[in-house]
This record gives sequence, C-alpha cells and structure tokens, in this order.
Amino acid sequence: MSESVVLKNGECEQREPEWHVLQSAEARQELKAKEPLSEDEVRQRLARHGPNALPEARAKGPWARLGRQLKNFLIYVLAGAAVITASLGHWVDAGVILAVVVIQTLVGFVQEGKAEQALSAIRHMLAPKARVMRSDGQHQIDAANLVPGDTVLLEPGDRVPADLRLEKSHNLKIDEAILTGESEAVDKSTGSVAPDAPLGDQSGMAFSGTMVATGTGRGVVVRTGARTEIGRISGLLAQTTTLKTPLLEQMDRFARILSIIVIAAGIAIFVGGAAFSGLPFRELFMAVVGLTVAAIPEGLPAILTITLAIGVRQMARRQAVVRRMPVIETLGAVSVICSDKTGTLTRNEMMVTRAVLSGVQLEVTGEGYDLDGAVNAENGHPSDSTLLDELARAAALCNDAHVHHDSGRIRIAGDPMEAALSVFARKAGFDVDGSAADWPRKDEIPFDTENRFMATLNHDHHGHSVIYLKGAPERILDMCNSEVAESGETSELRRDFWERVITEMASDGLRVLALARKPAERGSGELAIEDLEQGAELLGLVGLLDPPRQEAIRAIAECHEAGIRVKMITGDHGITAGAIARKLGLKNTGRVLTGKELDQLDDDQLRDLVGEVDVFARTSPEHKLRLVTALQALHGVVAMTGDGVNDAPALKRADVGIAMGVKGSEAAREASSVVLLDDNFASIAAAVREGRTVYTNLKKGIAFMLPINGGESISLVTALLLGLTLPISALQILWVNMVSSVVLAMTLAFEPAEPDVMKHPPRGRNESLLRGFVVWRVVFVSLLFLGGIFAAWYWAMHHHGDESTARTLAVNTLVAMEMFYLFAVRYLDSASITLRGVLGTPIVLLAVAAVIALQLLFTYTPWFNDTFGTQALSVEMLGFAAVSGVVVLVILEIETVVRRRWLRAGPG
Ligand code: ATP
Repeated sequence: MSESVVLKNGECEQREPEWHVLQSAEARQELKAKEPLSEDEVRQRLARHGPNALPEARAKGPWARLGRQLKNFLIYVLAGAAVITASLGHWVDAGVILAVVVIQTLVGFVQEGKAEQALSAIRHMLAPKARVMRSDGQHQIDAANLVPGDTVLLEPGDRVPADLRLEKSHNLKIDEAILTGESEAVDKSTGSVAPDAPLGDQSGMAFSGTMVATGTGRGVVVRTGARTEIGRISGLLAQTTTLKTPLLEQMDRFARILSIIVIAAGIAIFVGGAAFSGLPFRELFMAVVGLTVAAIPEGLPAILTITLAIGVRQMARRQAVVRRMPVIETLGAVSVICSDKTGTLTRNEMMVTRAVLSGVQLEVTGEGYDLDGAVNAENGHPSDSTLLDELARAAALCNDAHVHHDSGRIRIAGDPMEAALSVFARKAGFDVDGSAADWPRKDEIPFDTENRFMATLNHDHHGHSVIYLKGAPERILDMCNSEVAESGETSELRRDFWERVITEMASDGLRVLALARKPAERGSGELAIEDLEQGAELLGLVGLLDPPRQEAIRAIAECHEAGIRVKMITGDHGITAGAIARKLGLKNTGRVLTGKELDQLDDDQLRDLVGEVDVFARTSPEHKLRLVTALQALHGVVAMTGDGVNDAPALKRADVGIAMGVKGSEAAREASSVVLLDDNFASIAAAVREGRTVYTNLKKGIAFMLPINGGESISLVTALLLGLTLPISALQILWVNMVSSVVLAMTLAFEPAEPDVMKHPPRGRNESLLRGFVVWRVVFVSLLFLGGIFAAWYWAMHHHGDESTARTLAVNTLVAMEMFYLFAVRYLDSASITLRGVLGTPIVLLAVAAVIALQLLFTYTPWFNDTFGTQALSVEMLGFAAVSGVVVLVILEIETVVRRRWLRAGPG
C-alpha cells in the first residue's frame, strides 16, 4: 500500500508508511506529533496538506441549469407555436411567443439558482465535526480542519473524521460497511497487523467515513481528505439534496396530466374548428395556442419552489436546519413533540447545589461554573471532613470534563454535568489540576445511557488502586454493600435511608447522582462491568440544579395553544423529571411512566396509556422507538428529538426526527430530518410555526394561481364553443400569465405567518391540500373571473363596439380582479378587509404598484398597443376594472363568513 504522496504545492513526499503495520507510538514519531499539536503547527500542516475534505462534486454549472429549464413541456409547445406563427409570416406574434420562452426560461433559471443557494447554505451548516485534543485542551472543531498528527477522540455515534491509527480503544466497534460492505461492526484494538492485511482486518486503524457503533477510542490522524481510504474510492462528495416535497411532486404530476389533456383538447378543437367553424386558420391556431397557455399553470412551479426555499432559509435562521426536504410539509402537521430534557428543555448549565454524605447535608454556594463558592454544613460553616475530600476526589477523577478559567472567562469542554462535578470538587478543596496527576487513570468504563454509570480505575504512585464510580443513584446503590462514615470507617448500607434522601432531593427538581468507590487489587490494570456488581462503598450523593430554559416554557405554552402535545422523555429520575415538568408547564405531570413500567406494558396497553402521560423517565433509546410507534398508532404526527447513536431508529421512525446539533452524534444527525443548531426546544416550536407558514403559503400560491388559469381557459372554451370572438387574445393571455400573475404570486412566498398560525390545531395527518377548500376556491374564483371577463367584454362592446378596446378592458379587469384576489387569498380563513389586510406586507404593495405600472404601459403606450393589440381606455373603463376587483373581494369576504359559519355549525 506504500505510495508516494504529492502534496498540494506539487512537492513529492517520501513513500507513505504502512500505518497499520506500525505501532501507534511509531506512527506518532513518523508524523512528528509526539504531543497534541499546537495552533501554529496545525496552521502549518493545514497549509501543507490542505483541508480534510473530499472535493465536492462540482455544482452543476449555469449551462446545465439552463439546459434543465429547456426540458419543459410548455417550452416545447411555445417554441412549436413560435415556429408555426413565424412560418405564417406573423412576426410580431412569433416574437412575443419567443420572448415568453426566454422569460419563462430565465425565471426558472433564477429560481433554481436561489433554491441551490439555500441548499448549499444548509450543507455548510451541517459540516461534520470532530473532537480533537490540541495542546490547549479538548475542542470540537469542523472536521475539515483536522491535519495529520492531530489527536482525535471517538465516541459511539461519531463518524470517523479522518484515517486514524488507534492508540486507545475501549470496547470499540466500528461499522465499516461503507468501505468493506461488511454489515457487522468490527472490533477495534490498538495492535498492529501484517503488511498484507486487508482493510477489514486492520484492527488498529479507524477509517474516515466509518461509524463508531459502541465504545470509545483515541487515535492519531494519519491521512486526511482525498488521501483517506474513502477518498481514494469515491473521490467526490455526493450532493443529492433537492427541493422536492410530496406536495411539489403532486403538483408536478397534476401539471403534467393537465398539459396532456390541454394539448389533446387543443388539437381536437383545432381539427374540429377547421372542419366546422370556418374560422381563418391563423385565428384558430392562435386561439388554440391561447387556450394551451391559459390552461397550463406555467408560473406555479417557480412560486412553489421559491416558497420552499424561503421556508428552508427561515427555519435555518431559527436554528433548525432541514436535512430532508419533505419534512417542511410534515412539520406543519406535527401533533406531538417528544423532547429530551437535558439541554433541550433545560439549560444544561449544571451546578451542584447539595451534597449528602453519611447523613449530613451540605449546601454548595456559588454561581454556575464559577469557582467562587464553598461547601457548607447546615450551620453555614465550611465543611471539612475526610469523607468530603474522598467524595471530591471521586467527583474529580471519575470525570472527563475540563473547566478552564482564563482571564475571567470560563470555558468548559466535555459533559456539562461532569464540568459541574469538577467545579464542585474544587469548591470542596480538591486540587483538580494538581492532585489528579497523583492518581492517573489506568482504565475506565465510560458512561452510556444503558448502564447509567461511569467507573474509572486509578492508582497512586505507590501502586494502590481504587475504582471510583458515579451514576444514577439506584444503579450505584445496587452495587454497594456498605457506606463510608465521616470518620472514614465503613458500615452497612442504609438503603431505605438513602432512598428517602434521593426522593427528597429529586422532588426539589435536582438531578441526583451517587458517588462510590471500590477497593481494587494492588496493581490491577483492567476494569470490567462484571467486577462492579457488588462490593462498592457509597461515598454520598450530590444534587445538581439544571434550570429550565425560560424560552422553552414559553414555547411549550405556545405548542399547547396550537393543539400540540409536548412530552418529555428523559433518562433522569422519575421524581426529578416530574418536578422539572411542572416547572416547564407540561400538562399531565401527575403520572410519570418509567422505563421499567414501560417494559411491563404490551403494545396495546402502551397505546391506551401513552395519550394520558406526558413524562417518561429513566428511559432507554429503545423506549423512544416504542413510544413513537404507539403515538403514531393514535394517529399522531410525531416529532422526536435524539442525540445518541441508539436514538437513530426512533429518529428515523418519527415523522420528524430532530437531532441535536451541539451534543448530538453524527449518527443521530444522519438519521434525522431536522438538525437543531442550538439544541433548544424553542427552536422546535419555531420550526413548527415556520412549517405551518410554508404550508399555508404553498396553499395560497396554488389557490391564487390556479383560478387565473381556470378563469382564462373557461372563458376561451366558452367563446370557442359558442362561436364568439375570443374576449382575450393568445398574446394577451401570455402577458397576464407570465408578467402580472407571476409578479403578484411571488409575494405570497414572502408572506409572514398569519397571527393565529399557532392558535389552531394541527392539520390532519393525511389531509391533502388539493381537496375540499382549495378545490372549491379554485372553481368558485375561476367562475368569478369568467363572469368578470365577459362582463367587461360585453360592457365595452356595448359602449364602443370596438373589439380591441373590449379585449384591453377584459385584460385589465382580469388583472384588477387578480390584484384584489391577492388580498383575499392572503387571509384564507379570516377577514381580508382590515387595516392589516389592506396595508399588507410592503412587498405586496410594491408588487401591486409594479403591476399597475405595467398595465398602464400595456394599455397606453404605442409599442404595447401594436404588439398586443391593445387600445387606450377611458377613465370610466378603468373604473369598471377596479370596481370588478372590489366586487370579487366583497364576494369572497362574504363567502369566507358564510363558510366559517357553516363550518362552525358543522357541515350537515
Ligand atoms: P435526557 O435524556 O433528557 O437528555 P439525561 O441526560 O438525564 O436526560 P442520560 O444522559 O440518559 O439522560 O442520563 C441518565 C442518567 O445517567 C442521569 O440521570 C444520571 O443519573 C446518569 N448520568 C448521566 N451522565 C452521567 C455521567 N457522565 N456519568 C455518570 N452518570 C451519568
């Protein structure tokens, strides 16, 4: 596998070592990285090796994008029509049709560009992360900034960020299916293997792109970017996200079927007309072109895509990044949100406020992670006992977090709860930085949500070994037979007493943790879970405060008002969970269901109960999957949060899987459809609100565009069937559809949320948008437009007897009706004639002003008059158009009132 490596600057480096054959220390030597790298070294290495990223598959260039626009059915029809009209010598008509082809292509080109921009912004927000040790401590960085020689830490659910030579591993198993196709996760160790070992057998290596299934590990980066194994195979990063949702696909299908029907009808009308009507060929041909253009909603896909792109951007602004596009629609229908507690509903800024040892209660003073504070006995005096020292030592040594205080700023690295324990140990007088070195760690059992404890094996320089344990109190109590008294003596464990203390602390909303120790044999070097079943000595309990997020309290109230149930699913103690749930304002807090109780229920029993209970405690990730399934069986549309690798099945199963961007694992992020950049519950509520808004805006876009096509095409068909002159010419229809309607409809994509968007219950799981109300509105408004067009035509003919004037008025009347309809469509379910409705959003007023200006050009300038066959209108006529618009608005206002009454009374 040796080969020479060409560096970025074109220089050649000597042959690359066979990393899997070297011992990890030798690998470090080769990499000239005996110690974790400093910022300076990293900068130099980054300049030499380039970023740790695969080259992105080149975004499709503008030409490809342009080409895609031309693959459009309507464009073919229009191009065909242009050729035929040109061959007949109607140059103006051909020119206008070609201009429309150009506009249509450009609009598609620009909107697709916007959508691509929105998506690429999101991709960058979701850049993979890596946990790295540098000379100044542990950091979470963008994986792109890793360099050869860096020290990377691995945890379950991490995607390995570069090729690593492992130097530490604990029960580490890695899923290498992506590289080797082997679906079972393989055991990893730190040993070296024979030079000819295949990839799957190189147990001392962890390869970029593979996924940590269990255990923990540490390794030194040996290859980055395109030089990694995965980089050599695939070379490019696939980018497949597109802005497609079920609704858009439904609309595409609808438009395609409609186009086929319209063209078939066009041909039939043309043939029938030529045979029977005696109309001149040109007129008949243009009538059919007009009908085709009138009936096909050509502007609609652009409007819907832009609406989605804006929705995606808005959500990202609210810290919710959409990974799978269809979820934008589902978000608006969410009826249950199942949320983790720690860090999502609470702040995850923990502080130990109480400690209980051997029956003595101690209060801990101070603020957050600040070191100022003390551990005081009940009389207020600082406590000072050997037992407290031992408790503090356990808290500091059985701990992976780092707390740095530099120039007044506090930085924590690692688990916030462990950071709080480290601060507590310092307040209790333990010299965390100094004394920890006297007790190096030999081995550890890392915390996992299944076991709910962590253990470390430490030994001092005289060879004494001791195991320190910390974890969920009932779990630790199970391992203890005795407890340590203040004197240092051990006595029999008073289990009832400690359980009472735990209940008392948990009722105050404290997260309770037990700390214990177990003597180990001199010089023993390995730790196994089986060794810890019995024989530990309880040191004491600590209670941590993790205050609820204020914004979560508000967001929960908002969700309740919006008919969304919020459920808390936590690994914490039942009583603590209940107390926090009450502070957060959750609904059913009287009954807390624990993981153990859940295990005793079968699926039917769980389904009967799950609607009644809002707090689930001491749960494991498998419980989440059962809960999602049970809630879905009750027809809920379920959003579920998760962070660990084991949460992936539940995240996938949920209608909206939401991963935590900060503390979540890569596995959870990949299984989810939304990633929260700030892990905050309030962002979920905001995303639901955005989801509802996007869905309503899509509905408004459809309800606005389709009646225009409907009104126009029914008018033309009616005229053709009755043998009348067309009230609007083909070119004029092109003008209305490609200019006025698109400008007006575009504003709907920017429409802000209606004020009551979170005041009504979520829509039903299977509620289709293209039914009921929208279909009714499309038909009803199409008929209103039909009435308006013919009224204008006849009124003008009656007063002037001139066809081009009558057509010009018909077009202006249609556009006026559209403008007023835009105001009606903005508030589908409430009154539109209000100050807010009339003033609208600035962009609506801007669009209306633009359309009025365009219509004036269309009506009064000679060039437009010649091109589109229009005539200047009298003021009286303009008045007619405006009044028609007002009439449409008033009729729709009455329709809304009647419909709401009818709905309230219940249909039937
Ligand atoms: P949520 O599921 O809402 O995020 P959580 O953080 O309480 O809540 P877990 O991380 O599953 O859930 O933790 C479950 C329990 O395990 C905790 O209540 C605590 O008792 C114990 N625990 C958590 N972190 C550690 C740790 N680092 N070391 C030892 N025990 C821990």
